[in-house]
Amino acid sequence: MTLAEVAERCYHITSSYLASSSDSAIVGSTKEALNLTRRYFLQDVFTQWNPFSKKLSFSYNGGKDCQVLLILYLSCLWEFFAESVGSSQYPAQYHQFPLRFLPTVYINQTETFTTLENSIESTRKRYFLSVYESPQNQTSMPEAFKKFLDVHPQTEAIVIGIRHTDPFGSDLDCVQKTDKNWPTFMRIQPLLHWKLANVWSLLLYSNEEICGLYETGFTSIGSINSTVPNPFLKKSHSDLQNPFQWEIENAFGKRKEDINKVRVSKLSSADVQLFAGCSDDEYYPGWYLVDDSLERAGRS
Ligand code: ATP
Repeated sequence: MTLAEVAERCYHITSSYLASSSDSAIVGSTKEALNLTRRYFLQDVFTQWNPFSKKLSFSYNGGKDCQVLLILYLSCLWEFFAESVGSSQYPAQYHQFPLRFLPTVYINQTETFTTLENSIESTRKRYFLSVYESPQNQTSMPEAFKKFLDVHPQTEAIVIGIRHTDPFGSDLDCVQKTDKNWPTFMRIQPLLHWKLANVWSLLLYSNEEICGLYETGFTSIGSINSTVPNPFLKKSHSDLQNPFQWEIENAFGKRKEDINKVRVSKLSSADVQLFAGCSDDEYYPGWYLVDDSLERAGRS
């Protein structure tokens, strides 16, 4: 596998989703959200910052939002490349995908679940991410990004998977400069308009492996000391139905024998022990929750 092949697979995932015939309202709104993000990348972002240069980086922490954005980003990268090949005077066989690794930044700030760390490591390999990992225990996020820019001074813009429903996300724009107390770069935020249900719909349809913590009731993942499974997913609390049965059954490249399976990474033994000591409750998987206002109920 190469980055080019992964990008092409992501393109096939998004194309197959857009061409699907589901009449669910969630799928309909996700198609609209996807097309808008696609336009942002292809018309606004890649025309200003060539994605095959080192000017653009991707911020990645293994969470569901940045994974879904990574799939979209790679899909658009493939489309951008295919368009340039199509408009070239030279035949396709003379063109080579210009990137082998995707410049990525991960700020390793707080004590993280080892399941998430393992998942970051396996996605690093799967998506050919060239990850800059900040030294642990930085004083602040701005300080950590300043160190990143010292090492990668060519970076002009960073792609971020923040959404309007996240804390401090309501007034943001797709493309904007960093705030005063931050090092200077352009923030590229093409997922702002995505709702929680849109994220799950495309991610579950993609059939890509996701971090195993989500299957155990996590809906948003912070540090070990500040994150627990979402209390609104307690099985004793209410009787919930899976809103994404269609996505799971019809997932991209799904084999018949796996029809009801979601591909999740394995829980680390450290986390299994951690959860065994914490709670006797059982939880529905994270994707059973689609109310944006409750997404962070497991985070303090
Ligand atoms: P989840 O909410 O399920 O944990 P997520 O981590 O992708 O998913 P947020 O925590 O809301 O979403 O973070 C928003 C975005 O900010 C991420 O998608 C990522 O692009 C960026 N980000 C957040 N924390 C980090 C970090 N430690 N290092 C690099 N990027 C980060």
